[in-house]
Amino acid sequence: MTDQTPSMLDLVIELHKLLDRLGPGSVESTNRALDFVEGLGSMERVLDLGCGTGAQTMTLAERISGSITGIDLFSDFVDELNARAEKRGLSNRVRGVQGSMDKLDVELESVDLIWCEGAIDGVGFEEMLGYWSSFLKPHGYVAVTCPSWLTDNRVAEVDDFWTQAGSGLDTVAQNVDVLQKAGYVPVSTFVLPKECWTENYFAPRRAAEANLAAKYPGNETVAEFIAGNHYEEELFAAYGNLYGYVFYIGKKL
Ligand code: SAM
Repeated sequence: MTDQTPSMLDLVIELHKLLDRLGPGSVESTNRALDFVEGLGSMERVLDLGCGTGAQTMTLAERISGSITGIDLFSDFVDELNARAEKRGLSNRVRGVQGSMDKLDVELESVDLIWCEGAIDGVGFEEMLGYWSSFLKPHGYVAVTCPSWLTDNRVAEVDDFWTQAGSGLDTVAQNVDVLQKAGYVPVSTFVLPKECWTENYFAPRRAAEANLAAKYPGNETVAEFIAGNHYEEELFAAYGNLYGYVFYIGKKL
């Protein structure tokens, strides 16, 4: 007999693989961050790490004509990205591959731009900025989003939630300091608007949760998973003025 109970990880993948984006973000925010990056027109090689199903990858591809490689841990997400690229006629230069952002199989000093939306915090902001630097060409750029405190007024529930999710939150000033110490000139930071969370992520995720609940009626793991998502929404509704996703753009020295 097959075990019909999916694990939490199975659920995360099953729910997210059909979503346009897997975390807070927007086309406008990706474009706004791209506006701070010089030399887009002559870029040959871009990495989009933790690419998910490729929402931001497609925006990058509209502004950059060079090769763009999305890298993600999960083949389900990478397959979606590749299907999207194919649909847009971009397969010759935009492709997703399964891999980990902390084990890059890329030549040193060969990359013009490293992009990473919504994924660096789970692996390590400081560690990854340091590690990626050697793969960037001199004066190459890094652009990442990372959940951050927007104030010194920290709330324990929020800290606990993000620590349990795998990433403690630091302030924008702390993160800029880390970026600078890792050898980048801090070019800009900006806070993602709240709609990036509510309209672009929470709302479609809710719709996908309804499908999941219908597929696994009465399943406790599914109920727990969905309750965890709703708690994330409640926290953001209550304290979303104090923390948020922040774009950090840096230029390698
Ligand atoms: N950038 C996408 C977006 O905004 O739609 C995905 C963001 S999602 C919140 C985080 C992504 O990072 C997931 O797709 C996850 O599989 C990926 N990820 C987590 N750890 C990773 C790692 N070590 N290497 C590559 N991808 C990773």
